[in-house]
Amino acid sequence: MSPAALPRITDTPYLADGHRAFARTVEEFVTREVAPRADARTDDDARALLGLISGAGFTRYCVPVVHGGLAVETRAALDTRALAVLRESLAGACGVADLVLVMQALGSLPISLAGTPEQCARWLPGVAAGRTITAFALTEPEAGSDVAALATRATRTGDAYVLHGHKRFISQATVADLLVVFARTGGDGARGISAFAVERSAPGLSVVPQAPMAPHPLGEVHLDGVRVPAAHRLGEEGTGMRTALRALDVCRPSVAAAACGMARRALAESITRARTRKQFGKPLWEHQLIGQKLARMATDLAAAQLLAARACAEVDAGGDATGAVSQAKLFATEAAGRIVDDAVQIHGGEGVMAGSVVERLYREVRALRIYEGTSEVQHLVIARALCRD
Ligand SMILES: Cc1cc2nc3c(=O)[nH]c(=O)nc-3n(C[C@H](O)[C@H](O)[C@H](O)COP(=O)(O)OP(=O)(O)OC[C@H]3O[C@@H](n4cnc5c(N)ncnc54)[C@H](O)[C@@H]3O)c2cc1C
Repeated sequence: MSPAALPRITDTPYLADGHRAFARTVEEFVTREVAPRADARTDDDARALLGLISGAGFTRYCVPVVHGGLAVETRAALDTRALAVLRESLAGACGVADLVLVMQALGSLPISLAGTPEQCARWLPGVAAGRTITAFALTEPEAGSDVAALATRATRTGDAYVLHGHKRFISQATVADLLVVFARTGGDGARGISAFAVERSAPGLSVVPQAPMAPHPLGEVHLDGVRVPAAHRLGEEGTGMRTALRALDVCRPSVAAAACGMARRALAESITRARTRKQFGKPLWEHQLIGQKLARMATDLAAAQLLAARACAEVDAGGDATGAVSQAKLFATEAAGRIVDDAVQIHGGEGVMAGSVVERLYREVRALRIYEGTSEVQHLVIARALCRD
């Protein structure tokens, strides 16, 4: 099989013909506009990529059709399969492009899922058009995997809430115009948490950039007496954690798709390398130990694509997909880690040189096993889905 013929998520039986046609359109766009910008790293690069992606209309897939978004075909909040198609292509070409696209979905889903018609009309058209950049601010220094322990406090004073707290590891914090902030309005635990749409210009809100190992607009968010109109609370008091988990359930299958995109690119690079590089008088792939690696990488990728596509299809069908989603996220991100690591090995010294494709993928793929629920947390979710009454 040649690198160009490697399978995609759209080649699995879980996607509709419309998604296959959509994948061709996306791939042409990514090859033409995104691939030449693979080394994007600054906030300005991120904004420019979002401009290109929204100019092509793809950010509209981050907003439900009823609020001015687009879908190839779905019965759920978003067309998760379309999001997967977009992420598989974007992630193989440029990590920052993948991130800016998906954060428009994750950052706005709490509004789509829990917002009033007025709130949706106020913010979602700008998100769909790529004019309003969104962020999802849940994690805190003392509340990572255990998010229900978050300490940011929202205190009601008349027709507003005043927010005090500290968020960290917030994607797009450095470029966002609008942040969905989860804060405690009640007692301990998940039921004491509410969600708020907070405009970046609000006095008292400041952002300190953070620098992960692969380029990614990321930051800490400090909330020092930020006044948020009560009309910007998303849903009833106490429903914030449920909204956050629903949003994550919609986006998590697309993390598996992004992992497949990075793994597919790493395998393609490895096949090319193993065919053209000769040692001991023959191409690398003809050495059995390298051939075995390629076979294992391709098999892992195919399994990851099937799980990702199944999870997306189950979410789009509108049922309880939690177990399938966590299996896809867990397997695809772990498999992509193995595949990219093998790709570096197959490239030898070239594989660890700054600027090589597999070196970039090696740095980019790592965070996928951590964000939107670590691999350990996915194991817990799968076990719960298997054993709970
Ligand atoms: C690049 C990047 C982008 C991110 N973007 C966002 C964002 O946009 N918004 C946002 O809110 N958050 C974001 N995060 C935060 C991310 O969701 C958290 O990092 C993640 O949930 C883990 O939390 P933690 O880092 O505090 O690790 P911890 O919770 O401290 O976990 C440390 C280790 O302990 C393990 N562990 C924890 N609890 C258990 C348990 N019960 N059983 C077994 N093992 C356990 C974990 O799996 C992990 O291996 C981002 C993170 C990264 C790296």
